[in-house]
Amino acid sequence: VAAPDPDDFLEVDGSLSPEERDIRDTVREFSARELAPNVADWFDAGTIPDPRGLAKSFGDLGVFGMHLDGYGCAGASAVSYGLACRELEAVDSGLRSFVSVQGSLAMTAIHKFGSEEQKNTWLPRMAAGEVIGCFGLTEPDSGSDPGSMRTRARRDGADWVLDGTKMWITNGSVADVAVVWAATEEGVRGFLVPTDTPGFTANVIHKKLSLRASVTSELVLDGVRLPDSALLPGSNGLGSPLSCLTEARYGIVWGAAGAARACYRAALDYAGTREQFGRAISGFQLTQSKLADMLIDVNHAALTALQIGRLKDAGRCHHTHVSFGKLSCVAAAQRVASEARSIHGANGITLEYPVLRHMLNLETVATYEGTAEIHALSLGQAVTGVSAFR
Ligand code: FAD
Repeated sequence: VAAPDPDDFLEVDGSLSPEERDIRDTVREFSARELAPNVADWFDAGTIPDPRGLAKSFGDLGVFGMHLDGYGCAGASAVSYGLACRELEAVDSGLRSFVSVQGSLAMTAIHKFGSEEQKNTWLPRMAAGEVIGCFGLTEPDSGSDPGSMRTRARRDGADWVLDGTKMWITNGSVADVAVVWAATEEGVRGFLVPTDTPGFTANVIHKKLSLRASVTSELVLDGVRLPDSALLPGSNGLGSPLSCLTEARYGIVWGAAGAARACYRAALDYAGTREQFGRAISGFQLTQSKLADMLIDVNHAALTALQIGRLKDAGRCHHTHVSFGKLSCVAAAQRVASEARSIHGANGITLEYPVLRHMLNLETVATYEGTAEIHALSLGQAVTGVSAFR
C-alpha cells in the first residue's frame, strides 16, 4: 500500500466524480491565478479595490448561484458548489464570502421567494456578475435573535415604505440590489431594494481586523418607498431568511475546510525549511505533534464537508447537519490556523504568510451566519429535544 498523500491523507478527494474534480481544479486554478497573488494586498488595504471586476470574473467562472437551476445558473451539485467554496476560502474567507452572499443569500432568496418576473429580471445578471446583491438581515440591536428586528415595512396605498438600519452587511456599499428583511403586519417579508432608491444609503464599516478583503456596510433605510413588485411574494416569516442562511452556512462548512487545509500546508512548508538548532523545525517532536493534530483536523473537516454534501445531494440534509458542519469545521479551522501561526514564529504575524490572515478571518466565520454558540444550541436542541435558546 502506498504511503498516504500529506495533502489528502484519507483520500477524501479520491471519492470525487470526474465532474466534481474538474470543478475543483477549475476553481483552484482560477484562485491561484487571480486571487492568491493579490489577496494580501487587498487585506492590507482593507477592501477589494475593483469589486465589479471581481464580480465579473466570478460570473465568468460560473460560481455565482452555481447550485441553482435555471435563470443562467449552472445547476451544479451541492458537492460541486462546496468544492468551489473550499477552493476559494483556501485563499481567503472574504473572497468566499463574496460568492456566498451573492449566490447563497441574495440569489437564493430571489430564486426561492421571487416572482417569475423578479427571477428573470435579476438572476441571469447576478449569475453573470453584472449585478451585485447583498442580504440585509442583521441590525445594530438584532444579531443572533433576528426576530427582534426593528426594520419595518408598512403599506402606503399601492406602495411599501421601509424604515430601519441593517448592520454588518457584506457587499452593502457595492451592491446594486439589497435583499432587505423587514417586519410587516403579516410577519417578516423580504424586499428587493435597488440601491439607488431615494432614502437608501450604505456606509462602509472601517477598522475591521477580520475579513478585510471584503466590503462590510451599514444600510440605512429612511422612508424608502417601493412598489408592491419589490416584495418577494413567496417570503413568509422568519423561516424565509433562515432557509437562505442554511444554504450559505453549507458553503461555510466547505470553506472552513479549505482555510484549514491552506494553513496546514503553509505550516508544513515552513516547518520543512525553517532551521533552528541546526535542523529543520519539522524534526522537533513538538512541531510534529502540532502537525499531526492539524492533519487530523484538516481531514475531519474535509470528511464532514463531503458527507454533508452527499446528504444534501441525496435530499437528506437537515439544517442541524449544517449546524454540525459549521460548528465543527470552523472550530477545526481555528485550531489549525492558530497552530500554523505558532509554527511560523515571527513571520507568522505578517501578511507575507497566510496564517494570521486566515486566523483573523475565522473570527468572523465563527461569528456570522449563526455564532458557534447558536449552532451548539441548535445541536443541543436536536439531540435533547429541548430548546435552550431563551
Ligand atoms: P450577538 O447576537 O449580540 O451575540 C453576542 C454573543 O452572545 C455571541 O457570543 C453569541 O453567541 C452570544 N449569544 C447570543 N445569544 C445567545 C444565546 N441564546 N445563548 C448563548 N449565547 C448567546 N449579517 C447579515 O445579515 N448579512 C451579511 O451580509 C452579514 N455579513 C457579515 C460580515 C461580517 C464581517 C460580520 C462580522 C458579520 C456579518 N453579518 C451579516 C452579521 C452576523 O450574522 C452577526 O454578527 C451574527 O449573527 C451575530 O450577531 P451579533 O454580532 O449581533 O452578536
